[in-house]
Amino acid sequence: MKKLGIGVIGFGGMGSYHVKELIPASGELFEVQGVFDIDPARMEAAAALGLSTYASQEDLLADPQVAVVLIATPNDSHKEIAIAAMTAGKDILCEKPVAMNAAELAEILRVAEATQRTFMVHQNRRWDPDFLVIKDLYEKQPLGEVFQIESRVHGANGIPGDWRHEKAAGGGMLLDWGVHLIDQLMWLVPSSINKLDYDLSYILGNEVDDGFILYLTFDNGLKTIIEVGTTNYVKLPRWYLKGTKGTAKIDDWDLSGEMIRGTGNTAAAAPTPIQAGVGLTKTMAPPSEEAMEKVALPQPAMLPESLYENLYHVIVEGQEPVIKNGEVMAVMQVMDRILANQ
Ligand code: NAD
Repeated sequence: MKKLGIGVIGFGGMGSYHVKELIPASGELFEVQGVFDIDPARMEAAAALGLSTYASQEDLLADPQVAVVLIATPNDSHKEIAIAAMTAGKDILCEKPVAMNAAELAEILRVAEATQRTFMVHQNRRWDPDFLVIKDLYEKQPLGEVFQIESRVHGANGIPGDWRHEKAAGGGMLLDWGVHLIDQLMWLVPSSINKLDYDLSYILGNEVDDGFILYLTFDNGLKTIIEVGTTNYVKLPRWYLKGTKGTAKIDDWDLSGEMIRGTGNTAAAAPTPIQAGVGLTKTMAPPSEEAMEKVALPQPAMLPESLYENLYHVIVEGQEPVIKNGEVMAVMQVMDRILANQ
C-alpha cells in the first residue's frame, strides 16, 4: 500500500497531536513530509521532533511528496489555506470548525469541485466511545423509544489560549465545541431540525461566547439539549438520555455512568413515600425494587475504520467519506443561525 505524504500547516496543540498520535495510529497509510507554522518557536518544536520544516506555505505546497495537507491553524485561516492547497493539487484534511461560516465553506467546496480534490473535515468526535454508546441506545432502543438526549461538556478553565478569545479569529465555544456536539446529534438523528433555541454565555466578559445552551428539536419529535460551559467547577453528566422504558446517564469520557430500565411489572409494589425537604412525596420516591432494574451500559460499537483510514480510502479508492461535506454544511448553517444575532 502506497503511503500518502502529509504536509502539516499549523503545528500548535492540534497539529502536533495529529503528528504525534493520530497519524502514527493510522499505521502505514500516511507519512508526515514536513511542517509549516508562522511561529518560529513552533517550527523549532517540529524540528526538535526530527520533522522537516518548510520556509513557507508555498514551499510546502510545491513539494510533490505532499499529497495531503492537514490544516490545523486558527479558524479564520482555514478557507484561504484550503483553497491554495487544493489549487496546488493537494487533498485536504481540515480541522474543525471547517471555516468561519457556511458561506466560506461554500467557497471551499466550489474549489474542491473545480479541482476534483478530496476535502474532508476532522469532525472526529463521531468516533468518541461515549457518543457511540448513545448512538447504540438511540438506534437499538434497549430503553424504548428515545425522546430526549442531553449532551454536555463542562470545564472551569474559561476560554483557552489566545485566538479563541477573538471573534475575528473564529473564537468562542460555539465554534470550538459546539461544532462537535451539534455534529454528533445531527449525524445520529435521521431527521431535520424543526426548532432551535439558544442562549450564549458571556459571563467572562469576552467578545465571544464562553459557553452556551442550545435546544434542538428534530422533526421526528426528539428533543435535545446541548450545553457547553467553561465556568463549571461542578460538572453535569456528559450525557443524559430518556427513553419510554428507562433512563441512561454517562458521567464522563471514561464511560462511567448508569442505566435503569422499568420492568413493566404491573404487580410491583407502589413506591414508598419519602421525606423530601420539609415535605413528603410519593411522586419523586424511587420506584419499588420490582419496578426497575439496573442494566449495564452497552459497550460502544466502534466504527469500522478510523477517520484517517477513511480519508485514505476516500482519496485512493474513491470510497464514501464518513464525514460528508453536506453534513458539515448543515452544522455550519445551524451555527450561522445562532451567531447571526451576536
Ligand atoms: P493553536 O493555537 O494551539 O495552534 C495553531 C497554530 O497555527 C499555531 O502554532 C500558530 O502559530 C499556527 N498558525 C496560525 N496561522 C497560521 C498560518 N496562516 N500558517 C501556518 N501556521 C499558522 O490552536 P489549536 O488548538 O491547535 O487549533 C488549531 C485548529 O485545530 C483549530 O481550527 C481548532 O478548532 C482545531 N482543533 C480541533 C480539535 C479536534 O478535536 N478536532 C481539537 C483542538 C483544536
